[in-house]
Amino acid sequence: MDSKQTKHIELASTSIATRAIHAGQEPDPMTGAVVPPIYMTSTFKQDGVGGLRGGYEYTRTANPTRDAYSAQLAAVEGAKHALAFASGLAAIDVLLRSTLKPGDNILLGNDVYGGTYRLLSKVFVPWGVGLDVVDITDTAAVSAALESKQYSYVWVETPSNPLLNITDIAATVAVAHARGAKVVVDNTFASPILQHPLEDGADAVVYSTTKYIGGHSDVVGGAVLLNDDEVAEKVAFLQNSAGAVSSPFDSWLDMRGLKTLELRVKKHSENALRLAQWLEGHDEIEHVWYPGLQSHPGHEIAARQMHGGFGGMISLQLKGGMEMAKRVVGATQIFTLAESLGGVESLIEHPAAMTHAAVSGTTLEVPDNLIRLSVGIEDVEDLIADLDQAFAAARAQ
Ligand SMILES: *Cc1c(COP(=O)(O)O)cnc(C)c1O
Repeated sequence: MDSKQTKHIELASTSIATRAIHAGQEPDPMTGAVVPPIYMTSTFKQDGVGGLRGGYEYTRTANPTRDAYSAQLAAVEGAKHALAFASGLAAIDVLLRSTLKPGDNILLGNDVYGGTYRLLSKVFVPWGVGLDVVDITDTAAVSAALESKQYSYVWVETPSNPLLNITDIAATVAVAHARGAKVVVDNTFASPILQHPLEDGADAVVYSTTKYIGGHSDVVGGAVLLNDDEVAEKVAFLQNSAGAVSSPFDSWLDMRGLKTLELRVKKHSENALRLAQWLEGHDEIEHVWYPGLQSHPGHEIAARQMHGGFGGMISLQLKGGMEMAKRVVGATQIFTLAESLGGVESLIEHPAAMTHAAVSGTTLEVPDNLIRLSVGIEDVEDLIADLDQAFAAARAQ
């Protein structure tokens, strides 16, 4: 490439915020467009059979917008490989299916995203993969499980969804690796800003980029990040073979989101800490789950393992039980009643009836007086006032 067209930034030595804005973001070689274009094309002209320009052939296999985004995401994570998928669950599916076979076993935490549990228990188990659930925050229990059976993977979500449990990644990696098991961390809640599982020894990281990375509740996407070349090749092979790739437009949206991720995550974290402290003193509250609070059982680990904040997710249990929880989620005016999380706008939901309905009746069942908040980046005093009026309105009903 011509030197006029190439940014001469030595990105490896820069911080996350700089890499997020510059990695993979070469000005377009043709026009100089500063933002990588959305290459909305399924196929690419060949100059004679096999004469590919820049290696592009067909968008399921590779697309320049997806490549720009993947390079940016890999640089932000500090990973060698990033593969972008059509959803978080597509990423999880392809990572596991490309590396497991019937007869292999997965050890799963007892508080995970409901959709992950559904995929594993309803698709992988019938396929012949063994699944056991453990209190993943209890390293001794994980170690005991690993001694009783050979596991291919230990699956960690920290902070977990929806209870915000904290797992010590490095300690889990130590016991897993001692028994020949790999560790995958679903880093969706922390985002690559707050937590770096690969540095803590994890073998792979997965994201639902639908959440903080996209950040504006306008795209569904997922990613697998890893350093192992051999595993990356297997994941890329199945990604191309099965086809659940991130589209050029979705890649572009996630790429734009990633550029402001650090700013947003800091604000989400500040707002959530302030709100959690306020909630902890409120009459209606039975318990507040937020890893930034001293009262949280995982606070010390979180303070060590998370960098620069504790994220934007809070769960709370109400003294008034399920009825009160349902009334509160129906009475907010700024918080929108909706599933999902990680966008600029605050959301509120009732996990037992919404995001976690799929785990009802299982060992992963969540309390029915639980409300989950995705704290947005609005003015926090407005958010406090909104919850305060919602509690009052729900009480008066
Ligand atoms: C949303 C979510 C997923 C699934 O991602 P999709 O993009 O909805 O497929 C997986 N893990 C966690 C922690 C999530 O919040």
